[in-house]
Amino acid sequence: MEITVLGCWAPYPRAGGACSGYLVRGSGLNILLEAGNGSLSRLMGELDFRRLDAVIVSHLHPDHYLDLYPLRHAIEGARRDGSRTKPLKLFIPSMPAQKFQILEGFKKAFETIPIERLPLEKAPFGTPLRRLDLGGLAVRFAPARHSLPGYALSIKGAGKLVFSGDTAWTEELVELASGADLFLSEASGQDQDAEYLKDTHLTARQAGEAARQAGAGRLMLTHFWPEYEPGLLSEEAGESFGGPVLAAREGETYRVVPEL
Ligand SMILES: [Zn+2]
Ligand SMILES: [Zn+2]
Repeated sequence: MEITVLGCWAPYPRAGGACSGYLVRGSGLNILLEAGNGSLSRLMGELDFRRLDAVIVSHLHPDHYLDLYPLRHAIEGARRDGSRTKPLKLFIPSMPAQKFQILEGFKKAFETIPIERLPLEKAPFGTPLRRLDLGGLAVRFAPARHSLPGYALSIKGAGKLVFSGDTAWTEELVELASGADLFLSEASGQDQDAEYLKDTHLTARQAGEAARQAGAGRLMLTHFWPEYEPGLLSEEAGESFGGPVLAAREGETYRVVPEL
């Protein structure tokens, strides 16, 4: 399983950059994880969009879903000209209802499945997880703590990838990330932002601490405030993680389990 970073900035991009977007490839499937503004353009350089098998969006903030609007037209066009037969499976939270209803209305492009409607699975810790099995990939969703309903998620295939989504610290995130080969965590702020972010996002240092407590193999930071230097955030996270930390780079592909 591997992950290509399409966009890593939030909530607005640097020049030439894009907001949240990742292409996850594994078990013969191509999954678009997040579709923030600018990410579709990058996706086009990586993969024929007709070959997408599913889209998963952690929550309905613009920096995570705006490019679903242009993707809609791409899929509709491909269905009209016969180059793609089926609508694309789209997994999104059902709230806020108004945003959900708009996306759900794009029926020619998307088969929309609210994450809340996925079956619940018992977890070793308190909160049950939502379960989604896509071919050989097992996806599990844990509720995030954010200004909108959202999720952190894990994807197990050849290795375990965990993505924080946008979230403040939760014990569920640490449990979900337990044993992750690659933990992709938001790092929306530096130490001085901890108070401002405390109910909605993680600082880089908190991301490092969550990865350490989870026993994650590797930590990769993302969701960078464009005015901050990812290298500096990685240093702050490295102090709490206790090891080297990667900063997501647009256009780079990372194996979930690194080659020996
Ligand atoms: Zn958000
Ligand atoms: Zn965000």
